[in-house]
Parts: sequence; C-alpha cells; structure tokens
Amino acid sequence: MASLAPDALGPTVTIGEILVEIMATTLGNGFLEPIELLGPYPSGAPAIFIDQCAKIGGSAGIVAAVGDDDFGRINVERLRRDGADVSAISVSHDFPTGSAFVRYRQDGSRDFVYNISKSAASLISLTDTAKALFARAGHLHVMGTAFAIPGVWEMMEHAIAVIKGRGGSVSLDPNLRKELLAQGQTKERFARLVSVADLLLPSGDELFVAAGVDGETAAVAELFSRGVSEIALKRGERGSTFFSADGVRVDCPAFRVDEVDPTGAGDCFGGAYVACRRLGMPAQRALEYANAAGARNVTVRGPMEGAGSRAELDAFIAATPRAS
Ligand code: ATP
Ligand code: MG
Repeated sequence: MASLAPDALGPTVTIGEILVEIMATTLGNGFLEPIELLGPYPSGAPAIFIDQCAKIGGSAGIVAAVGDDDFGRINVERLRRDGADVSAISVSHDFPTGSAFVRYRQDGSRDFVYNISKSAASLISLTDTAKALFARAGHLHVMGTAFAIPGVWEMMEHAIAVIKGRGGSVSLDPNLRKELLAQGQTKERFARLVSVADLLLPSGDELFVAAGVDGETAAVAELFSRGVSEIALKRGERGSTFFSADGVRVDCPAFRVDEVDPTGAGDCFGGAYVACRRLGMPAQRALEYANAAGARNVTVRGPMEGAGSRAELDAFIAATPRAS
C-alpha cells in the first residue's frame, strides 16, 4: 500500500523560512575583513524543498513570510516560476526578508551570519491564505529548521490535524542536531512528530536521534514500531537507502559529481522524493530521482540553483556515472 497520499489529493505543503543566501567567493574564516561576496540567492531549507518538489512536477505550496524588498521578490518569483503555490507567502512592510551570509572554511565547515529571528521569516502566522492552503493540501512536509520560528509549532499542529483529517500524509526531515534536543520540550515535540509521520527523511546521525537508539537496524525497527511506514535515509556521496515497515530495503548508489556547493542537497533530495512517491513511483525510481536532484544541486553554486525539472533530471541521470 502506498504510504503517502496521492498528488491528486492536493499539494505538498511546507512551513518555514524563506531567506536569501549571500556567499563568500573565497575559502576562509568568517567575515572579519572585506571579502568578495556573491548573491543574493533564493534560499531557506523549506523553500529549497518546495522548489524542487514543484519543479519535478509535484503540486506544492509553502507557508512563509518575506519582506517588501528585492530579497523577498527574487524568492517569490523563483518559487512561482517553478510552479509552487505562493499564495500563502505573506509580505511584511516592517521587516526585511531573512538572510544568511555564509563562508566555507578550508575543512568544509561553515561560518554564518544570520538574520532570521529579526526578519520577516519570523513573522509566519496562520493567516487566512495559510488556512486555505492547508484545507486543500494532500501532504505536510515538516522541516526541523522551522521550529526556531515562534508560533510554528502551533501552526504545525493545526496543519497536521487538517491534512490528516482529509486523508493526507506527513513527512519529516529532522534537520536537527543533538545539541538542539537538549531541551526536554524539543525532544517531546520531535517524538510527537515522529509519531504522526508516515515518511522520515533523516541524514547521518539524525536517524539515531530520531529513534533514540544507536545502530542502523535497531533505529529503523524502533521508528517502524512508532508508526512510521517508510524511511529514506540520505548518505551524502554514498547515496541513499529506502526502508519500509514491511521489511523492504532498497539501496541506491550516488551519482558521481564534483561538489561545488553542498548546501541544499538534502532539501532537493526530499522535494524530489516526496513528489515522486506522491506521483505514484516505486521507491527505487523515487530514490533515483532524489539522488539525482541532490547530486545535481551540489554541482552548482547557490542553495537551490541546481534544482532540476523532470526533463533536466532525466538528462542528468542519463549523462552521469554512478558510484559503485
Ligand atoms: P544538507 O547538507 O543539505 O543538510 P543532507 O545531509 O540532509 O543535506 P545529503 O545526504 O548530504 O543530505 O544529500 C542528499 C542526497 O544528495 C544524498 O543522498 C545523495 O544522493 C546526494 N548527494 C549529496 N551530496 C552528494 C555528493 N557530493 N555527490 C553525490 N551525491 C550527493
Ligand atoms: Mg549533507
């Protein structure tokens, strides 16, 4: 049985931050002297997810907020152009669009200067247009990053009740670090999300954090015992694995690419995977598109610049060797 509601039930909807990203063109530490910067690029994990979801042909929409400025406009126009429903993106006349300045260090780690909590991104609320989008949605995708925004938890609970109530499904990309789970409340919320999720999209350690158990087999079994029906585990340049509650496992090797900018791979993977599954594709095919979406995105500078249409991903799949 399919674990996600079909695309025809209504769009995949996500909630969360829309940002611009402005990146240093040179490797190094931080922003303590004048350096060359490149941007603005449309960004924000939920925005990247929903852009890829729409671009591959899934119906998709986002609840978010931007400022009345060019940083907001390039995001909204990109999402609209790529086919996402932007009706529930509200525009603040007081706060600017959120931003993230990023610089990569030699070792691949990153320094950030964020403006999120004092930006329009923090103003997401349950507007009439947001309610209307939830009322016609077929699937909710929860992004762990969004919980930094006040009021988002209550909105998630509303969306879960409405969407599940009409036969829709829920996915969760934890996007969480162990440090963030130090507070008991966050841990409880996270457990609650796992209990309502049909699909989990963890990467790396997040599988163990989500399960509260170490070891891949034990963690997967624990999550299935809590009602999850499928897991798509992201393994970076080692590809991905599908696990289903009825015991099926599918491994999908990564595509071999030169990584230019790793940001957004996981979000593109998720957007493609959810869209493909909701469009009725078997797990193997959905993983292949998801791996392609993640891999293609890292070959291009900018967090969502490499998101691909179905035709672009078909061309990428045909032209790109796979790691064995
Ligand atoms: P993010 O770094 O955006 O948080 P993530 O850790 O959630 O991402 P990853 O596992 O890094 O997710 O990437 C998602 C998918 O994208 C991988 O499963 C893989 O298929 C593809 N991918 C990511 N990086 C590479 C790479 N360097 N080479 C090939 N494929 C990649
Ligand atoms: Mg990664």
